[in-house]
Amino acid sequence: MPDDLDIFEKAVLIASKISGRQIKLIQINPSSTSIYHYKCKGRLSREQYHYDNALCTKCGNIINTHFNAAQNIRDKGEKFLKSINYPFSHARVTV
Ligand SMILES: [Zn+2]
Repeated sequence: MPDDLDIFEKAVLIASKISGRQIKLIQINPSSTSIYHYKCKGRLSREQYHYDNALCTKCGNIINTHFNAAQNIRDKGEKFLKSINYPFSHARVTV
């Protein structure tokens, strides 16, 4: 493995080799990913010192804020890839 890769590039390289799939590293702006519920887009009501869970003001569900932010980041990534017509339908790498 080349020494000049940063930790994210190394993780992508390893994941690509293990999965046999072409994995692309893209940078996503994380703004608002912890504010809105990824499913219904309702705003999360966050209380001070209670950072792990929040009430969604639209659907009323208690949401794990970490999982929710990860889902929002995934959604932003998929939206970006679709905007550039990237073939990310889990195409296998052919070596
Ligand atoms: Zn909701």
